[in-house]
Amino acid sequence: MRRDDASEHIRRVAVYPGSFDPVHRGHLDIAKRAARLVDELIVAVYATPNKKLLFSTDERLRLWRETVAEEGLANVQVEPFEGLVIDFARHVGAQAIVRGLRAVTDFELEFQQALMNRKLAPEIETLMIITDLRYLFVSATLLKEVAHLGGDLDGIVTATVAQALKEKQPAKSTD
Ligand code: ADP
Repeated sequence: MRRDDASEHIRRVAVYPGSFDPVHRGHLDIAKRAARLVDELIVAVYATPNKKLLFSTDERLRLWRETVAEEGLANVQVEPFEGLVIDFARHVGAQAIVRGLRAVTDFELEFQQALMNRKLAPEIETLMIITDLRYLFVSATLLKEVAHLGGDLDGIVTATVAQALKEKQPAKSTD
């Protein structure tokens, strides 16, 4: 991709894939850090993950799009995708895949996935970005449990996502 003419800028595009069920501030932190490194960041919302989800694809897209608008992230787009991340990355002309790292527990899986992606698409680089300390313990699974039990998620999700989580909880019986 290197060009001899230094004045010709190569557009840097990265894809940030995930199931984002729902987007939380840890995800947002990674997206903001990645958006500073590239011309365009595409948040790729996995439409058919191998997990049981609380939010539909449309809901997960809407929550990310609202988050991007609220945060004023001008170079971030949100799109759904199915199939292999590298196929989506090639389709949108991305040079890199972004993943967020929390602790050692994420590392092994992310490492395996990155090496597999490199084997499948050697021209695409995986960028691992380390999360802010505040979000080290945040996971979508844990926050859904806290929401279910009526806990306070202030500082962990945006107000929009907190509201969406609230609406997903079964109505409490008033008997
Ligand atoms: P997946 O289903 O691909 O694991 P997730 O929606 O759980 O997707 O996460 C998407 C990406 O965000 C992954 O790279 C994951 O490591 C990262 N991530 C998840 N939680 C955090 C967090 N608290 N801080 C930073 N990155 C995170």
